[in-house]
Amino acid sequence: MTRMSRERQERLMELLLAEKRRLWGEVRRELFGQVGGELQSQNDLPQDVGDRGLIDTLEDTGMAVADIRRQELTRMDEALGRLKEGRYGFCDECGAEIDEGRLRVAPYAPCCISCQTRREGPSYGPGVTL
Ligand SMILES: [Zn+2]
Repeated sequence: MTRMSRERQERLMELLLAEKRRLWGEVRRELFGQVGGELQSQNDLPQDVGDRGLIDTLEDTGMAVADIRRQELTRMDEALGRLKEGRYGFCDECGAEIDEGRLRVAPYAPCCISCQTRREGPSYGPGVTL
């Protein structure tokens, strides 16, 4: 397996952290927006509650999105873990580095665009590269 360059690793780290922030932003919006006034007025749910705490709270609300969000955040943590070990951003199939543009739109893409195309057939068409 190729060794990832430090620059690439840093850019991917930024990418994942930005995605994580976006994800958390959505979770917070859903949590504080929909369950709304009640929770906020209770004042016992600080905005800076830890990641897991917020997920637990989300689950307690019984909101339909809780499961989806938890899965997304779990995948995100796994991706960050793999990146720290230098294993993120490589194609599962051929071991090549996955294009950063592709990871930008699909941070959890398991394989490079050519393997993806081979797997699924040319659904994107030959002119489109992600
Ligand atoms: Zn590949």
